[in-house]
Amino acid sequence: MTPSPSSAPTISARTAGVRGSAIRDLLTLTARPDVISLAGGLPAADLLPRERIARAAAEALTDPGAVQYGETAGLARLREVVAAHETGRGTGGARGPVRAADVVVTSGSQQALDLLARAVLDPGDAVVIEDPGYVGALQVFQAAGARVVPVGLDEHGMRVDELADRLAAGLRPRLVHTVSSFHNPRGVTLAAERRRALAELAERHGFLVVEDDPYGLLSFDGPPPEPVAAHGERVVRLGSASKVLAPALRVGWLVGPPEIAAAVELLRQGADLCGSTLTQAIAADLLADHDWFAGHLDTLRRAGAARAAAFTGAVAELLPGATWSRPTGGMFCWLELPAGTDTTAALPRALEAGVGFVPGSAFAVGGALPSAARCCFASHPPEVLREAARRLATVLAVPSGR
Ligand code: PMP
Repeated sequence: MTPSPSSAPTISARTAGVRGSAIRDLLTLTARPDVISLAGGLPAADLLPRERIARAAAEALTDPGAVQYGETAGLARLREVVAAHETGRGTGGARGPVRAADVVVTSGSQQALDLLARAVLDPGDAVVIEDPGYVGALQVFQAAGARVVPVGLDEHGMRVDELADRLAAGLRPRLVHTVSSFHNPRGVTLAAERRRALAELAERHGFLVVEDDPYGLLSFDGPPPEPVAAHGERVVRLGSASKVLAPALRVGWLVGPPEIAAAVELLRQGADLCGSTLTQAIAADLLADHDWFAGHLDTLRRAGAARAAAFTGAVAELLPGATWSRPTGGMFCWLELPAGTDTTAALPRALEAGVGFVPGSAFAVGGALPSAARCCFASHPPEVLREAARRLATVLAVPSGR
């Protein structure tokens, strides 16, 4: 008798190699109403501009095109607004203004990352990623069959000197991914001289930098950092409306060299045809309303700064022995607890005590990070953050005399 083909479904070796996101799994647990969640990277619900979005939606819906399929590369008006906005940030550098043709709108910047990886990488290609790193990037690069090479971070962002050493020793990456400003999960920002050095290394060694920058506009202390893309042509910039308008719009974008933008657009045809015309029209309206957007950003920055200060102040008081980099923007505070603390083991007890965080090991690319925790301070007002720190202290505080 001929053996019947196995009916067991099979998945590709590449897919089998993708690590699940502990964070997305955690979101279910931390959604319990009795838990103050510092786990998800969620923008503050109380600061999302729902009324302004509703007005923009009503206005957009007067045009029948708002509920129609749209162009794969994105709504022309949004591409223009994003191009102007990126030009204002300095993305074009000495090359001059960013053109609408250089912009591809995507379903969140996560889709840009996925399509970019598929457009550029062949299985086995080396990709550099920061360690600890953005889990969504790690997943994308694993799914593309890349060989992921971790490079460390310090107070000033990616250790570009470590990358230079690896390159000198023969490493030939196709992509180097960096969350350049207010890093997820470390909270730190790539120093200006490292930005220049990274762009120069890209020119010299022929790799592309992926500047993943959803948080740059949320700067507490001054203007947003100058993009890495200002310093060279071999930089693909990813931007997002998620942290400054609303994640539910699912609007992000890629700005890059024409052949990269064209390849990403081509792959998007097969991925989802086009984005939501309606939410793109809303995003274009809000981003083009300069006075409103500037005021809204100001509100987000002030609230973020007050929340970060409240959280770190309470941690300083209640968790002696913990250290962190002072957040200067963005949404995350990376707590390092004394050696010997196991934040993964502590998490179930923390949830019992009514507080959630993401253990550092969830972001580890190379080694383990057992005594670290990522805490998102953006989602709650100061008094709730103080209560969260109090609850954290009940499970993470080092007993005196230890
Ligand atoms: N990049 C980084 C570094 C992020 O933290 C996130 C969201 N957590 C994204 C990209 C994706 O965001 P979105 O798809 O909502 O634009």
